Amino acid sequence: MHPQTLCVHGGKDINNNTGAVTVPVYQCATFAHPALGETTGYDYSRQQNPTREVLEKTVAALEEAEDCLAFATGMAAITCLLELLETGDEVIASDDLYGGSVRLLDRIGTKHGLGVTYIDTGDLAAVSAALTPKTRLVLAESPSNPMMHISDIRALADLFAGREIIFAVDNTFLTPYFCRPLTLGADVVIHSGTKYLGGHNDALAGFLAVNDAGLSEKLRFLYKSTGAILAPWESYLLIRGIKTLALRMDKAETNALEIASWLQSRPEITCVRYAGLPDAPGYDIISKQASGFGAMISFDVDTPERAAAILGRLKLIRFAESLGGVESLMTYPLVQTHADVPEEIRAKLGLTDRLLRLSVGIENAADLIYDIEQAINN
Ligand SMILES: *Cc1c(COP(=O)(O)O)cnc(C)c1O
Repeated sequence: MHPQTLCVHGGKDINNNTGAVTVPVYQCATFAHPALGETTGYDYSRQQNPTREVLEKTVAALEEAEDCLAFATGMAAITCLLELLETGDEVIASDDLYGGSVRLLDRIGTKHGLGVTYIDTGDLAAVSAALTPKTRLVLAESPSNPMMHISDIRALADLFAGREIIFAVDNTFLTPYFCRPLTLGADVVIHSGTKYLGGHNDALAGFLAVNDAGLSEKLRFLYKSTGAILAPWESYLLIRGIKTLALRMDKAETNALEIASWLQSRPEITCVRYAGLPDAPGYDIISKQASGFGAMISFDVDTPERAAAILGRLKLIRFAESLGGVESLMTYPLVQTHADVPEEIRAKLGLTDRLLRLSVGIENAADLIYDIEQAINN
């Protein structure tokens, strides 16, 4: 089935014969057993909950995954993934990664004895050179956050073939509507469901999706043991959000292309990074592995004072962390999402005090452009 249909019908509620066309919120912590040694299939909501199960099946269908686990947040999902590793194992991560993932790896992963190396995962030779016999996890984002670097997912998967490496792709920016990393050879897909999947800035969630039964079993064990599961009501909000994922992604992407082109025409804007611009680095690779470019733009303005002034003057677009909702949001990565990225990495990437990141929503593009224009000019 096409993703547009899977968004609406991907997960079925097998427990309900009332004919209800939406999934009930099973606001329930525990489930009664028919008799000793018998179960309805549900015991306790940390392990299974019927509402969460429908959500997990929906995301699994969209990612073409065998199994999907829904977490309280994206960071809870990544934390669970790291629990697969042992002391002394090594992690290779994109050097341009969500700041929270860097904080988790550097401050908590290393405390548990993980070695962490950051490289541009778009550079296959560099990744190949960084592999050691202890490398167990490679973590990539494509496009990366906030510099929009593109990694060739299939080429990376081929590079890791035959090694004991878990290749995880954080697919938050493109969503399964545009890109399905498992079909390109990745072992694990990560999501912050807080972003496009939920889509309304009203719920936090995270996901891990996998295609390997052994990996699924290990993660399910860690999931029930550590307990950062998604609650029934949040599960319902995510199911509801995903129903319009296809429409929202298409509209936000159309808006993003229009806004990125307009930004390129402005003298105050010195660099525009949007994966959908034909002259963007990695355009050929993303065109090959995804059916769309998403709606995240980052851009440099000419001075730090201009960046600060724009953030203060925006009227329609809100100055806030996060992304992927129907509302457009502007972020200042240096002090918000990427404050915990080491200074030397920020400098190497060009993550400066002139960089702004725009999550384009589903409003009217001309209204959004008007808002940015008045914020630049005033
Ligand atoms: C927001 C985000 C996360 C973290 O997700 P939370 O739901 O905020 O915990 C991880 N990766 C990416 C790419 C994100 O944008």
